[in-house]
Amino acid sequence: MSATPSPAEAALAPPVPAVAPGRGSRNDGRVGRAEGDPLLDALMRLAARHFGVAAACLLPGATVDGRERLGAGVDATLCEALQELKRINDRHSSEGSGAPLVVNDLGSDPAWQACLSRVSALPYRFVAAWPLTGPNGDALGSLCLLDPAPRELTAAQRASLDDFASMIAALTTPSDKTRETSQTETDLHAELASLRERERLLALAIAGSGTGIWDRNVVTGEIRYSKGWKAMLGYAEDEITSRIEDSYLRLHPEDLAYVQATMQAHFEGKTDQYEVEHRIRCKDGSYKWICSRGKVTARDADGRALRMVGTSTDVTSMREMAERLRESVNLITNLTNEVPGLVFQCRREPDGHTSFPYASAGIREIYELTPEQVASDAAGIDALIHPDDIDAWRASLAESAATLAPWHLEYRVRLPQQGLRWRQGDARPQRRDDGSTVWHGFITDVTERKRIEAELQEFATTDGLTRLANRRHFMSRLDAQLVLLRRTGSPQCALMMCDLDHFKSINDRFGHAVGDEALRHFADVLRNHLHGGDVAGRIGGEEFAILLSGADLDGACIVARRIQDCIAQAPLRAQEGAVALTVSIGVTPLRVDDASAEITLSRSDVALYRAKKGGRNRIECV
Ligand code: GH3
Ligand code: MG
Ligand code: MG
Repeated sequence: MSATPSPAEAALAPPVPAVAPGRGSRNDGRVGRAEGDPLLDALMRLAARHFGVAAACLLPGATVDGRERLGAGVDATLCEALQELKRINDRHSSEGSGAPLVVNDLGSDPAWQACLSRVSALPYRFVAAWPLTGPNGDALGSLCLLDPAPRELTAAQRASLDDFASMIAALTTPSDKTRETSQTETDLHAELASLRERERLLALAIAGSGTGIWDRNVVTGEIRYSKGWKAMLGYAEDEITSRIEDSYLRLHPEDLAYVQATMQAHFEGKTDQYEVEHRIRCKDGSYKWICSRGKVTARDADGRALRMVGTSTDVTSMREMAERLRESVNLITNLTNEVPGLVFQCRREPDGHTSFPYASAGIREIYELTPEQVASDAAGIDALIHPDDIDAWRASLAESAATLAPWHLEYRVRLPQQGLRWRQGDARPQRRDDGSTVWHGFITDVTERKRIEAELQEFATTDGLTRLANRRHFMSRLDAQLVLLRRTGSPQCALMMCDLDHFKSINDRFGHAVGDEALRHFADVLRNHLHGGDVAGRIGGEEFAILLSGADLDGACIVARRIQDCIAQAPLRAQEGAVALTVSIGVTPLRVDDASAEITLSRSDVALYRAKKGGRNRIECV
């Protein structure tokens, strides 16, 4: 340890007169004004007496937690001077900043004087500064001994200084318990601040939500309202009493009994909480709808309610909106229920599950189901679709869902009461974010239309007398067969042309009505010889053509022969007696190069002509 400044330091310092401090007038161990711990002050006095110096003081060291942890018996000027001394010493000490500083005689060393003159005049010649070290090795400060007279420290005094320093360090270092208490206090402060902030935000949120708070003393009948509660009804802070009786007067008379009964039920513990919607009169006399919620927060030993706290929220606009919504829904429901047929919303999930979130009353007629039966699962409808149409029904919906093209389908259903009926569905699909498809549309009963259409179709394609295909329809079927043959080369088909022989004479002999009967009779014979895919038509007055599907020329001739045999064996049994009939038949195969049905038909005519020419009741092939 060296208390001597370096030559460089000494060179910087101008020679100054030695300080000649006399023994201080105060001998209470304190130097200057010092505020501090009474215990530390007492220790300083003890140290001064023990070492026989004019003063002992504590010099602050590093700060801890932003606060100076030390400082006793030292004023700012002295402190500055001593700190300067220590800095000089620390810079030149080989032991670093923790080294003790002992200057036996400041006056005898011009270098020290030079340093001191830069801060203040120090009226002491002896200075010792003993480091105070905390438990973690942190520099807490220094214990300083000061005396106007030069002196030297004995080994025993140095040891005593060590002891004093340890004691002071222990006294000035907060114990774990102190630290714990201090930490707890800090935590509590932080928690309190956080609670206050939450309370502030909660109050803002409640105020912003249009909700008021009330607090009811069930025993005294006193009820207190928050400022926001009063404001909700248009009242100022002091314009509302705290009597529960008055609060009942503000209730709408129609709601009073219900509110009181609900409250009573909660008082009696029958409900977990109190919640009602009711009307309440505002200051201006108008009524608002509010939703009141509350809970008993204190009960006596017998379970009687003592205190209840709750909130009231203005739900007027919400109820008005709900009312308007209800009216809209009613309007839509009433309108759609008046529309003949089923108006619906159908939803299909990505997994295929289908439901009808909305179905008008018409579903009772369309599917003989209720809206509730299809609200969550439409499987009941699948079961009603005609087996011949179910594939088309499924495919059309799948295609509409995939392409989002409008859905249109005519299909049959089999209903428990109505039996077989025709339905027509039309709907527009939309894709929802979740991947589901939603159709809005309607399904109508088209059974009557389909019946008329079928009648018209028959009328347009059938011969009225014989119920066979008329010429136009027969020719279109023959054309279709030729198209198929040209495209696929199969099947082999033959055309048979039949002309009743001497028919005119039948008319002449038995009358036109018997002639008609004879035509019907022959048509029945033809029908009996038809197979699936064959078509028979009445081409002219007593001329008939048969398209034999899958028959070659030989096969066709066999059929022709059978027809001749049959008509020969089964004459028309008319009132006038048996009317014998014979028929001439011309047969020709359908050819790939037949450009039209007319060409095939005229070839069969050629064959027929040959049969006639050959003597009638014959078969000729071309
Ligand atoms: P062919 O053996 O040469 O065929 O002699 P046909 O008498 O059968 O032939 P024709 O062409 O001379 O006479 C056909 C007759 O068929 C004339 C016509 O009055 C009669 N006819 C045509 N349409 C009808 C009909 O709808 N009802 C009745 N009853 N007769 C009809
Ligand atoms: Mg004829
Ligand atoms: Mg004839």
